[in-house]
Amino acid sequence: MPEQKAIVIGAGIAGIASAIRYAVKGFDVEVFEANAYAGGKLAEINFQGFRFDAGPSLFTMPQYVDELFQLAGKNPKDYFEYERLDEVCRYFYEDGLRLTAHTDANKFAAEIEAKTKSDAKEIHQFLRKSKTIYEVTNKVFLQRSLHKIKSYLHWDTLKSVFRFGQIDAFRTQAKANQSFFKDERIVQLFNRYATYNGSNPYRAPATLNVIPHFEYHFGAFIPKKGMYSITTSLVKLAEDLGVKFHFNSKVSEVVYTKKNGTLVVEGIICNEQKSAARVVISNLDVWFTYRNLLKNFPAPEKLLIQERSSSALIFYLGVKGSYPELDLHNILFAGDYKAEFDTIWKDKTIYADPTIYINITSKYIKTDAPDGCENWFVMINVPANVGQNWEELIATARRNITDKIKRILKVDIGELIVAEQILDPRSIESKTGSYQGSLYGNSSNNQFAAFLRHANFSSTIKGLYFCGGSVHPGGGIPLALLSAKIIDQDLTN
Ligand code: FAD
Repeated sequence: MPEQKAIVIGAGIAGIASAIRYAVKGFDVEVFEANAYAGGKLAEINFQGFRFDAGPSLFTMPQYVDELFQLAGKNPKDYFEYERLDEVCRYFYEDGLRLTAHTDANKFAAEIEAKTKSDAKEIHQFLRKSKTIYEVTNKVFLQRSLHKIKSYLHWDTLKSVFRFGQIDAFRTQAKANQSFFKDERIVQLFNRYATYNGSNPYRAPATLNVIPHFEYHFGAFIPKKGMYSITTSLVKLAEDLGVKFHFNSKVSEVVYTKKNGTLVVEGIICNEQKSAARVVISNLDVWFTYRNLLKNFPAPEKLLIQERSSSALIFYLGVKGSYPELDLHNILFAGDYKAEFDTIWKDKTIYADPTIYINITSKYIKTDAPDGCENWFVMINVPANVGQNWEELIATARRNITDKIKRILKVDIGELIVAEQILDPRSIESKTGSYQGSLYGNSSNNQFAAFLRHANFSSTIKGLYFCGGSVHPGGGIPLALLSAKIIDQDLTN
């Protein structure tokens, strides 16, 4: 078996990052991807003159992308360019309130003080708390394995352990936000951050209040050629480093054997052919790695049966006209947020007055829509797929969404849609191999969630690693990239 050979299963963002990191270490790396294209959830679709980023639309922590180019001794700008946004999001409420969340925290706080019952002090106090949670959790929960003793021997880990009480893990995010803000609408605005990892703010720990720190401290960004250029530029870097990609290549088995009493990875099987490697990194949803690829191997049921994160229903709409009241990221809030989450999480169905997210990249990237049109990515949160009657739910949701847009924005888009495609939990599952179509692996709906994600390595099969949104440290592009970094540390130490 080649000593310096690594195989990555899946060309999701963490799989590509892992491939780059192993190539930089001098490994001969091959990536096997089931689809005809790279990126997994971070893909794009083009139809009738419109381009849409298929999945992720919010780009934070670009330094984790840049560091891959720097690691390879390249200038990131030669491959990938992005710009910082002045606005994180525009918020629209049923009572007519409209707020612009500026990335400049002072400006944002002033906007809130001018338009709501909350004041600037509340915002600053909250953002200070958010920063503290980040400082305590970053090294322990995000940058290192939670599953290795040596992680706990670092001085900064120990310091964080002593400050554990500050991460607000013992009350829900909604409870905490209620105590931070006088105005219910601002509570709602900050509760929304639980959805950034597919969770429910009325159950998830207030530790998730770390997320606003990413936006209001590090900033929100837009890649100049769209989110998909994160994928394409990293694939280009990987290829420049000699990584070989095999598309339309679904892996059917991870092969392992027993050597001197220890299980050791041997390679993979794809199209009935074995490829040998010393290291195999699975970028699949960990649920499918165990259920489909590891034959005759006991699955860690306790981890696999955790509640999944929510999924999404997306309408990619080519819309005639231009809408200056909307920016890149826009939210039309549900009137009753608690009822929306109860419907998703308890009833496992779609709420009749859903919070609507509208992302319009053609505001910044003119070529994403034909002249006189905009590309509206219209998304609502929905439960993971457990066999609901999606056809019926989607038809009702479409009506409710167009009604709400008409009510709040005074735009009857029904008449203005010139192109349309839909992505739902079933197609998210089939296109990206995500169990139940959940967007972020397991939910973070309890304070132990961080400890109930699968480790980035197998404790039983030597040479087998796991990266991506379904394993530690969790879902979303920044964390998926960190999963690759944690594997890299394992190789380095
Ligand atoms: P995945 O994207 O899950 O890719 C896994 C890959 O493995 C796929 O390409 C799949 O085809 C391949 N594969 C599966 N089985 C096999 C097999 N047997 N053999 C070979 N290949 C296989 N994150 C953000 O940061 N910001 C956002 O705004 C955001 N919004 C989102 C909106 C939507 C609609 C979705 C779907 C996700 C969103 N996310 C967002 C989450 C983010 O996209 C994911 O966390 C991240 O892209 C996951 O990357 P991954 O490395 O886990 O790989």
